[in-house]
Amino acid sequence: MFKNIGGKIKKLSEIVTWMGIITSVILGIIIMSPGDTMILAGLIVIVLGCFASWTSSFLLYGYGQLIENTDRLLLLHIGENDKNEPDLEQIEETHKSSVHTTKAPSKVGKCDICGKESTPVFYCTIKDDLGTRYRNMCTECMQNWDIKK
Ligand SMILES: [Zn+2]
Repeated sequence: MFKNIGGKIKKLSEIVTWMGIITSVILGIIIMSPGDTMILAGLIVIVLGCFASWTSSFLLYGYGQLIENTDRLLLLHIGENDKNEPDLEQIEETHKSSVHTTKAPSKVGKCDICGKESTPVFYCTIKDDLGTRYRNMCTECMQNWDIKK
């Protein structure tokens, strides 16, 4: 429900913006309907309403973008100095998603992402355009990152 909350916030800001624009247009048309004298007022309501809906969405959208970027940076940089990265060949590949892959059985240890200790962790391979990284991740973090077991 709260997975990928950054993306959901961005989506919400888009929906709110469109609702604001549609409401402004309907309201403008209603104001215009009595006749000539109200046409200018109706147009002003439409133009200003659409503009206000659009600009007021910036803050919410930007906040969603910020969360998305932070999540991404966290995954990319935590444990950056891992030394013992095993040979890719030694690991049996069981599943491949667009960005992340996980292999190897679970064991109990410390999650490299959230830092939770004594939790079942999976050895995950994270592949993207920046390269390949290896992290021990708890099931919760794997869910957050859409990694399939
Ligand atoms: Zn974790």
